[in-house]
Amino acid sequence: EKKVMHNFNAGPSVLPRSVFEQASKAVLNYNNTGLSILELGHRTKEFQAIMDEARSLVKELMNLDADHEVLFLHGGASTQFMQVPMNLLNENETAAYADTGVWSSKALKEAKLYGNVKVVCSSKEANYNFIPKDFTVPGDSKYFHITTNNTIYGTQWQSIPKVDVPLVADMCSDIFSRQRDFNSFALIFAGAQKNMGPAGVNLVVVDKNILGKVDRALPTIMDYRNHIKEGSMLNTPPVFAVYVSLLTLQWLKQQGGIDAIEKINNQKAEMLYSAIDNSTLFQTTAVKEDRSKMNVCFVMKDPSLEKQFLDVAEQHGIYGIKGHRSVGGFRASLYNALPLSSVNYLIEVMKEFEKNY
Ligand code: PMP
Repeated sequence: EKKVMHNFNAGPSVLPRSVFEQASKAVLNYNNTGLSILELGHRTKEFQAIMDEARSLVKELMNLDADHEVLFLHGGASTQFMQVPMNLLNENETAAYADTGVWSSKALKEAKLYGNVKVVCSSKEANYNFIPKDFTVPGDSKYFHITTNNTIYGTQWQSIPKVDVPLVADMCSDIFSRQRDFNSFALIFAGAQKNMGPAGVNLVVVDKNILGKVDRALPTIMDYRNHIKEGSMLNTPPVFAVYVSLLTLQWLKQQGGIDAIEKINNQKAEMLYSAIDNSTLFQTTAVKEDRSKMNVCFVMKDPSLEKQFLDVAEQHGIYGIKGHRSVGGFRASLYNALPLSSVNYLIEVMKEFEKNY
């Protein structure tokens, strides 16, 4: 019998139990082929079917139009920080960036290697505890880059700013968790390891019309157009990560897709925020209207109690709630596969702790 754990880790993170079971079976014997998914060639009809279904499920779940291509790439989201400007930005052109956290600032640092960067807004002075509202994006910007959910600080763009230039989004930590008008983005990227699957694969959704407009020579593997042309099979894909992502996307579809999971995610976030707001010991760090529905960041009014609460949480099988070192305190990540019952359980443990102090 497996020890019961409540996994609030920020990523890699909890995935559905049924996905772990299916993935385990496939490691031993994929679909009765007598072969493990780990030893199956990527040019087989079996793997081709996995890749095709994964790509088309992303299109279906995100309701993408024919211009938007779906790719599964290596290198994590951090590679996209470089690959995006390399493909979209000429040296004498300018890209606009919103600086809403460490990941945004890492993204814009890479863009500076390829062209000019204009930081149109930043919440850095406030330790990134809010989403800027008042800014303009120059009309000649090649694109505007935002991080829809700031994993470390627990802030999230609740609405997407309307701009006249192509929109690029790092959706690592809120992809598939809520509805957005995904077709309004020129490019979306997300590492799988939160809401889509295991670490090791990166989702890229790109409007093919924005490609092929830079002057520089692109290395073959860095040019999105080559990946599109080869159906996301330019080289050996991360086969197992793609397969487990497919299982997770199938699970999401069975739950009723993004609309259905968003309702549950809203409920989970409301429950936890309201417990924190009503507590005498805990308080959130982000500005209320910008609070993330995926990563709930909170601290204790008396920081000397934090170590004790962390120990109590650990004793109760609550895993991964230590906050990122740049914010401190706690972070409870409420990704799609985290059951509502785990949120209830965390709230009970917090209330019990509060009673004892
Ligand atoms: N962007 C965001 C919003 C993230 O949360 C993370 C990782 N937690 C990254 C980028 C970096 O992703 P990777 O480790 O896959 O490069």
